Amino acid sequence: MSIFLNNYLGGQWQQGARPVHTLLDPVTGEALAATGGAAEGLKEGFAFARTEGARALQAMSYGQRAAMLSEAMKVMQARRDEYYAISLANSGTTKADSGVDVDGGLFTLGFYAKLGAALGDARTLTDGAAAVMSKDQLFQSQHLMVPVRGLALFINAFNFPSWGLWEKAAPALLSGVPVVVKPATVTAWLTHQMVKDVVDAGILPPGAISVVCGGSAGLLDALTPFDVLSFTGSADTAATIRSHAAVARHSVRANIEADSLNVAILGEDAQPGSEAFNLYVDNLVRDMTIKSGQRCTAPRRALVPKALQQAVGEAAAARLAAVRVGNPRHADTTMGALVSREQYDSVQQGLALLKTEASVMFDGSAQPLLDADARSACVAPTLLAVRDADTAVKVHDHEVFGPVSTLIGYRDTAHAIELAHRGLGSLVASVYSADNALLARCANELAGSHGRVHLVSPEVGKTQTGHGNVMPASIHGGPGRAGGGEELGGLRALAFYHRKSAIQGPAAALELAKQGSTPLSY
Ligand code: NAP
Repeated sequence: MSIFLNNYLGGQWQQGARPVHTLLDPVTGEALAATGGAAEGLKEGFAFARTEGARALQAMSYGQRAAMLSEAMKVMQARRDEYYAISLANSGTTKADSGVDVDGGLFTLGFYAKLGAALGDARTLTDGAAAVMSKDQLFQSQHLMVPVRGLALFINAFNFPSWGLWEKAAPALLSGVPVVVKPATVTAWLTHQMVKDVVDAGILPPGAISVVCGGSAGLLDALTPFDVLSFTGSADTAATIRSHAAVARHSVRANIEADSLNVAILGEDAQPGSEAFNLYVDNLVRDMTIKSGQRCTAPRRALVPKALQQAVGEAAAARLAAVRVGNPRHADTTMGALVSREQYDSVQQGLALLKTEASVMFDGSAQPLLDADARSACVAPTLLAVRDADTAVKVHDHEVFGPVSTLIGYRDTAHAIELAHRGLGSLVASVYSADNALLARCANELAGSHGRVHLVSPEVGKTQTGHGNVMPASIHGGPGRAGGGEELGGLRALAFYHRKSAIQGPAAALELAKQGSTPLSY
């Protein structure tokens, strides 16, 4: 192992840190790379980003920054093979699953490059029209949005080292806000490599992007009043971050994406073998197994009419039996590993907890692993079914971050919706039905506790984008347990990286202040 993931701060790669954390191949256990511990020079590095990085970025128009994003995307597209190799080694993912992260990140970057190009020469945004505040109509108020005066700190989760970086960095950089990314240590290599490639290509001005690998100590202490913070990870870390003195004292704007007990609902109109039924089962199995279930949007709770629970379980089990788990280097492997042995242990503990109120409908662990042994972080898919939908509580409270889902049999649609709300706020609920009126009712009744409601009828069965896939045109985030955050959603994402100010004054002055501005419309 000769790769050391240096920090890039203050426009310089920092050399000389002592290796503290080792990144491993989750299948073979091989040491791949190392990071240091607590970063040095955070305050100075952050100050450089806020001054030099912000100045250079904000000297450009949205259109110019969009062109920069497009260039960055092209640089990285040319290196996709290398990113796939890093994903395979460090995340234990198959080619298809590496693509979800690598190509998903580049697609999102390209999406914002296109949106930004349409903003053209503008340098600020307006929110709504001017409001007349006086009888003579001369005194008015206009909401103006300017880039925040600080930096954007991203603290990211282990499961999306590429997408997690670019889904945040694309709207931030397009807004003219410098970014500092701190990837989860266990899979930091890919994030580090992508930042390095973009830095080496000289596309972004100095200070526009920085990366801190290894320890998180001191990161939050280095934040100042106008910075923004976007965190993705567990609810426990989110709670620590929210209550951190610097975040609380400086009113640092914080976006939190945390745990989520998403639901997939099969409509009560479905019959075994119907199109909606088959779509439901196919999508459930896909969402359970993509990235070995390590997607924050995976349907942990599968709500089905009680009378169909057995039929759904059997149909899903038949499809799950075809999943071949093991080393992603093996040609027959369709599902790779979890990212670490720690995650493996966490999934086993979670399964044991859920089994106190659920029975096993399918357990793939009897199948031998392909080219991997019991020391690897490979885990087979498991489908559970709660024994009593009314009394089960853990299924609504504990997220097992792996290829695990639990069937819950409901009596009628009202019962299904009541059970869905028991997750206390999730990223996504999906509903499968041939009845558009039922889909519409579910949309209205689920929207209050789900950031996204994904409706699937046979008509859109082939073209729908998938329960678990986060598309940049739609918002990502959910209330309550899911963290209360909101990302993406096209140009909506720019609001987080802008400060909105009500400019009140003479209409003529407002007209001048609006010069170089474009309405934020979506
Ligand atoms: P985690 O343990 O909470 O870590 C997330 C990030 O926080 C890592 O970069 C970690 O750094 C850092 N961190 C840990 N302690 C910190 C502290 N005291 N101060 C500042 N930063 C700190 O979560 P994870 O295990 O990586 O991710 C899994 C979880 O993420 C799952 O529960 C999943 O639901 C959630 N998730 C949510 C979404 C979403 O969009 N809602 C997306 C993906 C994942 P180190 O790695 O160096 O410890």
